[in-house]
Formats: sequence, structure tokens, C-alpha cells
Amino acid sequence: MSASAPITQDVVTIARKLPETGKTNLVGLTRSELREVLIAHGTEEKKAKMRVDQLWQWIYQKGVRSFDEMTNLSKAYRAELAERFEISVPEVVSKQVSEDGTRKYLLRIAGGHEVETVYIPEEGRGTLCISSQVGCTLTCSFCHTGTQKLVRNLTAGEIAGQVMVARDDLGEWPEPGRAPKDETRLVSNVVMMGMGEPLYNFEAVRDAIAIIKDDEGLSLSRKRITLSTSGVVPEIARTAEEIGCLLAISFHATTDEVRDRLVPINKKWNIETLLNALRDYPRLSNSERITFEYVMLKGVNDGDADARRLVRLIAGIPAKINLIPFNEWPGAPYERSDWERIESFADIIYKAGYASPIRTPRGEDIMAACGQLKSATERARKSRAEIAAETGLGG
Ligand code: SAH
Ligand code: SF4
Repeated sequence: MSASAPITQDVVTIARKLPETGKTNLVGLTRSELREVLIAHGTEEKKAKMRVDQLWQWIYQKGVRSFDEMTNLSKAYRAELAERFEISVPEVVSKQVSEDGTRKYLLRIAGGHEVETVYIPEEGRGTLCISSQVGCTLTCSFCHTGTQKLVRNLTAGEIAGQVMVARDDLGEWPEPGRAPKDETRLVSNVVMMGMGEPLYNFEAVRDAIAIIKDDEGLSLSRKRITLSTSGVVPEIARTAEEIGCLLAISFHATTDEVRDRLVPINKKWNIETLLNALRDYPRLSNSERITFEYVMLKGVNDGDADARRLVRLIAGIPAKINLIPFNEWPGAPYERSDWERIESFADIIYKAGYASPIRTPRGEDIMAACGQLKSATERARKSRAEIAAETGLGG
């Protein structure tokens, strides 16, 4: 490496991704970004591809965080890397484990902001629910995250880093050459269903997913990665083309009148516009079917007529419908539908030929269930009286 190597504009932009330590974080750089950064810092161009492969293996396959451990690189090269770069992932502030084994991590990212990541162990698989933003610009009326303003977008490194943090905690860095198959992994599936609207942070989410699905990256099959969106229509075709993972849509209502209230982005892109955008997704992304998420809110969207309308609306789209019993949070304006109601709704969908699994609420005792996430820093900003009211301890 030579100190005089020219730094291109692109590289400057990339380096800005992590301004705090003055060093560039290598986690979250795409292969081509990493290559450019290395070359700009003096790595010989003809060796750059090999260096990228080596670094990726250490970082994403072996979970190494220090250049010192990269024994197939010369000592001098390791020292040069350490001077300019770092390998950093979000810091775990706290971990809570639910009675049902669900783990919720509160993570601190650059700037002192906090996000939550949830690990859900299930029979034969383990799903990691990751966040894409601190807060959310949207204000879905049943969602706890929606009550928190958008603080900032996560970087690709902070998004992919959540998977690395979970692997750290679960002790899942395989021995070299013995990477387990997807289905036997503790983290076998990733869902972008934590805090934030992933399609309002498109580039970072795209780059993070590229790392998660790369065979030499975190190496999960793209069929085990699901991105959930509230319906940012202009980005859906692009998601198929540039990301290519499975898609879930927060549908939640069968008339524009109700959907406007539940998922206000519907006022911009209504049900018809959304469905039209979805018709091409499976073909464009080469994936089998779209998941329609449908939160069950008592007396709001849970009637048999809604179930029948839902089936009519999605006709022709390869789909599965995931019914989510509403998860309550302090001050929420809705109640969960009764169990018989949910079953009756599921039955209509099932008889119409769609899979209609009911999502078992997980980790409710630690507020880790869908839609309950909100960062603790935000909670801490509330007054004592609000907190007392929330916890029922009296004011
Ligand atoms: N912003 C994206 C992804 C995060 S939300 C989106 O809206 O799709 C992940 C899922 O949890 C969405 O389907 C969302 O509608 C649902 N959800 C939000 N709040 C919920 C709650 N209180 N109970 C049940 N599901 C909820
Ligand atoms: Fe944002 Fe999704 Fe919550 Fe809506 S449901 S407020 S889009 S995180």
C-alpha cells in the first residue's frame, strides 16, 4: 500500500459510511466497494480480487473481527489494514430471553442510536428479524415502531451486522470448511420485519442482503430471506430486479377506506396500484409466491366478508396469507381478534386454496413480537408519569 494512492470520489463516499472512528468499516461494503477501497489504499490491482475473497471469508464466514487473526495475509499487510480499516458490528447493549426462547437484542449503532433485533427459534429453523431504520417515517396505526419518528437509516453494515451479532451470541461461526447447510443453521432465515420500512432505505438494504445471500458472505439462500414492505409501490419492481429475495406485503385491509386508516401509505398507493405492482414480482424475482401479512384487529378488518374480499383481490397472484394476531403495546388503539374469529377467517382463505398460517405470537413477555419494537432510548425520553402509566405502576 502506498499513502500517495489516489482516492476516488466513490471511495470518499464509501468511507463516509462510518465517520466516527476515522477508519472505514469493512462490514457492509459490497465486493466492488471493498475492492475499490483496497486499491485506493494501495493494494495492487491484480491482487485486489483475491484480497476481497480472503477478507470476506474471514469476516463473514469465520466471524473474525481482528486483522491479526487473518493468518493467510502477511503480517505487514495485516498491520496496514488495521491502520486504515476496522471490522465492526453493532454493540449489544442488552439481551432479553423470553420464556419461549425468543431473544431480543438491543443494539447500539454509530451516533448512540439503538435498534432491536429478534431471534425466534422454531422447530427445524431459526428466524432472525432485523431492522432497517431507527424509527419509521410511516405511521401505521397498529404499529409501535410507527409511534417513533424516523431517526436515521441504518447502513448496510449495520443491517448485515445484525446477523453477525446473532451468530456471535448463538456461537454459530462454523469451523473453516464446515459451513452447515441452511436447514441446520441456528439462524436459517432472515426477515426484514423489524423496525423501519426497508424500501425507504433501499440501497443499504440491497447491499446488506447481497452480503447475507452471497455464498462467500453470510451465505443464506435468497429463498430464506424475506423483505416486508408496507407497500412502497415504485420500489417493488426494483426489489425484484436488484434484491431478488422473497417479498411480504403488509396488506392488513381489503378496502381502501380501512387500509387508509391502518397503513396510511395506502393514500399514496392504493390497493389496486399495489396489487398491479405485485403481479409481476414472482416472475421478475424468480420466486414462487408473495406473502400477504394480515394483522387481525378485532372488529376492524376481521370479518368473513373481509376474508372473501381478500381472496378475490389477490386472485391470480401466487400467494400465501400470513395472519398475525395483533400484538398489543401500551396505548394501542386496537384489540386482538378472538381466536374463533381468526380461525374462521383462516378457514375461508384456506378453502380458497391459499396457505393461511396463523403466526404464533413469540416473545410477547419481552415486547419482542411483531410491531412491538421501539428503541429504549426513545422510551427513555418519556416522562416518568408516562412510564408509570405504561407499566401500570401508578403515577
Ligand atoms: N415496515 C415493514 C416491516 C416492519 S413491520 C412493514 O410494514 O412491512 C413487520 C410486520 O409486523 C408488518 O406486517 C407489520 O404490519 C406487522 N405489525 C406491526 N405492528 C404490529 C402489531 N402490533 N401486531 C402485529 N403485527 C404488527
Ligand atoms: Fe413502519 Fe412497518 Fe410499522 Fe408501518 S408497520 S409504521 S411501515 S415499521
